Amino acid sequence: MDVENMYYHGRINVPYKWYVGATGSRFLVGLRDGKEFWGITCPKCGKVYVPPLKTCPECFVPNEEWVRLADTGTVESFTVAHYSNGVSPSDIPYVLGLIKMDGADGSFLHYIGDADPADVKVGMRVKAVFADERTGNIMDIKHFAPVNE
Ligand SMILES: [Zn+2]
Repeated sequence: MDVENMYYHGRINVPYKWYVGATGSRFLVGLRDGKEFWGITCPKCGKVYVPPLKTCPECFVPNEEWVRLADTGTVESFTVAHYSNGVSPSDIPYVLGLIKMDGADGSFLHYIGDADPADVKVGMRVKAVFADERTGNIMDIKHFAPVNE
């Protein structure tokens, strides 16, 4: 006997919290309280990670030394989103960029704002724009905006 497939359509709202660890906490507190970027250095290879990582993914040793970084960087790559995913804090179209923070070795993923998406370019210099009200999460950085140097 053929039976029609039936579906329950629900919307699950699951509040939760997730401990970001001591390393992540220090990073977020720096953003929230001082608008400061802190990276962490691998004692073996010397790479500076921001956001900070507890362990160097290449050397597998604990990262130990914190270093204060500037709030500026260079766009290494980006994409323009033309579809809303329902959770993005930005209206479409919006730009997500990989930003190499000055003094760091890796890239930092965040929004690029205050710019027409058509004007965003690889190699563009950007500066963090902080939220007026910071609460201790990554969106304490509102976005990165182009700077003329
Ligand atoms: Zn290393």
